[in-house]
Formats: sequence, C-alpha cells, structure tokens
Amino acid sequence: MSSRRSWDRYRENRFRWLSGMTGGLARRMLVWILAISAVMAVMATSVQLFFDYRRDLSDLEQAMRYIEENQLPGLADAAWNFNAAGLRVQLDGIGHSPWVAGAMVRYGPNQSAELTTGVIDPGGERAVEFPLRRDVGGKVVVVGGITISPNMRDLYGRTVNRIAVVLATQAVKSLVISISILLLTSGMITRHMTQMAEFTKSFEPGKDFTPFTLRRGPHPPQDELTVLADGLNDAYRRLFTAHEFEVRHNERLSEEVALRTQELHQAHQALAKIAVTDKLTGLLNRLGLEDAFAAELAQAERQGKPLAVILTDVDKFKQVNDRHGHQVGDSVLRDFAAILVREGRSADFVGRWGGEEFIILCPDTDEERAALVAERMRASVAAHVFPVVGTTTSSFGVAAFRLGDTEASLVKRADDALYRAKESGRNRVARG
Ligand code: GH3
Ligand code: MG
Ligand code: MG
Repeated sequence: MSSRRSWDRYRENRFRWLSGMTGGLARRMLVWILAISAVMAVMATSVQLFFDYRRDLSDLEQAMRYIEENQLPGLADAAWNFNAAGLRVQLDGIGHSPWVAGAMVRYGPNQSAELTTGVIDPGGERAVEFPLRRDVGGKVVVVGGITISPNMRDLYGRTVNRIAVVLATQAVKSLVISISILLLTSGMITRHMTQMAEFTKSFEPGKDFTPFTLRRGPHPPQDELTVLADGLNDAYRRLFTAHEFEVRHNERLSEEVALRTQELHQAHQALAKIAVTDKLTGLLNRLGLEDAFAAELAQAERQGKPLAVILTDVDKFKQVNDRHGHQVGDSVLRDFAAILVREGRSADFVGRWGGEEFIILCPDTDEERAALVAERMRASVAAHVFPVVGTTTSSFGVAAFRLGDTEASLVKRADDALYRAKESGRNRVARG
C-alpha cells in the first residue's frame, strides 16, 4: 500500500523539476534569448561573410594580376612563335591555378587559332580579357589574347561552407548558453519563487504559522531572494499578530456585550418591578393591580372560576395625619400594608389602590371565603399596636365576580360594600 503510494508520488513528481524549469518565466526567457541570439548570429555572420567574400575577391584579383605579370609574357612569346606545345604547357599552368576555372588563348593571324583549358565561359561573371603583347624590334605588338574564367564556383562554395560552419557553431553556442541560463534561472530564482507561491497559498489567518525558509544548502547567500523571503515572513507575521489581536479584541467585545446585556436585563427587570410597585409600602401599585385584574378576570371569565375583591380603608386616617403628622401616617400605612400581606394567602394580590385604600384580589375564592379573609385582616389590624398612634381600625368591602364584570364594575361593588361598612359604624366587613 505504502510502496504503491510512494510510486504514485514518484510519478506525480517525476517531471516536476522539468515543469518548474520550463515554467512561464524560464520558458519566456529561453524563447527571448534564442530569438535575440539568432538575430545576433545572423547579423554577425552576415558581416563576417561580407568581409570574407571581399577578401576572396581581392585574392582573386591578385591571382589575376600575378598571371598577367608573370605568365602572360611567356604566353605572348609562345604565341609569337606559333609554339602550340609551349602555349599548351603554359595555358595548362594557368588553368591549374585554384582561382581559374578555364582559359582560352587566341593567337596566329587575326588570332584565329584557339587553345582552351578547363571550362571557359567568355561572357561569364568576372571573366577577364588580356591582350598578349610582345616587343618586336622595339615596338610592342599585340600577338594574341587570352580570356580567363575565374573559379567563381569554388569561391561561392567556400562562402557557403563558411555560412554553414558559422551558423552551426552559432546555433550550438546559443543553445548551450540558453540552456545554461535556463538552468541557472530555474535553480537560482524560479524554483524559489514557486516555493514562495506555494507558501503564500498555504497561509491561513489563525492557523499555526511556520516561517518560510529558502532551500539553498547550508550556507545560503544573502541576496534579493533572502530579502524577499524575510519580507514575506515579516508581512505574514504581522498579519498573524493582527489577526490574533483581532480575535482577542472580539472576545473581549463579546464578553463586554454579554455583561452589558445582563446588566441591561437586570436594570429592565428592576425598572419593570419599580413600575408596578408602590414606593411607600412595597405592594403592587395601581398599574400592577390593573395587570393582575386583567389576567384574573380573563381566567374567571374563561374557566368560570370564582374571583373575589376586598377593598379596605383605614378608619379616620385624616385624624392620624392631623394629630401625628404625615410621616407617622406613612408608617401606619406601611404597618397596615404588612398586616394585609401577612393575613392574605400566597395566591392573593395585595396592592395600594390609592391614598390609604388597599385592594386584595383573591383568585379562586368565593365571596364567603373572601369575607373570612377580610375579617381576619380586620381583626389583626384592630389588634395591632401602631407606634405613636396606638390602635386603629379599618373597614372592608367584599365583592365576588359575576359574569360580564369588568375591573371597574367589580371594584365599584366592593367600594359600595366598603361605604356601607363605614356607614354602619366602621371596623367591620360588608359584602357587596
Ligand atoms: P374614614 O374613616 O371615613 O375613611 O375617614 P378618613 O379620615 O380616613 O377619611 P379619608 O379616607 O377620606 O381620608 C383620606 C386621608 O388619607 C386623606 C389624606 O390626607 C390621607 N392620605 C392619603 N394618602 C396618604 C399618604 O400617602 N400618607 C399619609 N400620611 N396620608 C395620606
Ligand atoms: Mg379613604
Ligand atoms: Mg379612611
């Protein structure tokens, strides 16, 4: 299994070095170097060949001059003497020159006799004509003529050979230089750039950060690549730190928000409680009572359960205020409220209706039972000794829920009953 995997990996990586080497940058450089060196080679070769050709031509002209100066006098002698054998020997001598393709000599009366050697092309390129002159009795006489066809084929052949050799050596040179540059570029630059690109791709904020290292042997040089790698590591280190800072900052913010939300919730709850609480007695205030009424009336209406209301008022309270002052009156109200709570049941809602009037809303309670609760409260108040004031009494009106009742109609009946209790002498419970 593992050997199979390593084989697969080998196959995957087999040509990696090659693809890295011929990757975009190195390949483009290779193409450019080849193109530039090809153009340069063609230009240099053209210049060199031009000068070589010129030198060959000048050599040719020199050869012709040599023939003119050294061989033509002998030839003229032979022509004057009609020495055909001598002419042949000398003409062949001229024809053996590497610069001569062929020659033809004319001699005799009206130069009607001809001898040729090699391949002669009188109208051909650079063919030269020399008259054969001889001093006859102190007078120079033309005794014949010679046409020489220069060996242009060899000259051109040499040039073509030179072109082939120069182009071949230039091509090999360019190829060797290009491949060297390609290998050097790949080994020294692009390989590392590919590794850097892979490193940048693998970087993820929040993940462990291992700095990038250039794989360049035990003693790497300090150069532009080192600067680039250091810059890369530095940038990522700062990014990493910034990310960590942001994460920590966000955590702190979340904690802060959670804390503030909790505080806000508590403040909201406290406010909600304050909104329905009477400040003096700590009982439900009018608003709180209205909520309790709404819920209990709906319940009584829907489920047909009994519901009773007790309305109570301290007797002759004005006198308390008048005699002992408002603050003493307040403390009587607080004690009075505490007695109502103590004598009421846990399910009852006890609240301050206004001034020194209080309401006890008794769910699941009929008039009979509510009257008993009211009686217990009345007796408890009457038995209580209020500081400064001593004893005092209170009156109670009790009313039970009837179908179709609203808060107002139910309280009205309790209020009527309370009025009757006051009317009939106070300190008593009256039923509505
Ligand atoms: P009754 O027996 O007919 O009820 O006589 P009363 O004197 O108690 O008459 P009433 O119920 O009309 O008196 C209400 C008085 O309660 C008037 C007002 O000065 C006093 N009062 C109302 N609210 C407060 C309060 O918050 N504190 C104090 N100390 N007195 C209050
Ligand atoms: Mg009153
Ligand atoms: Mg009163």
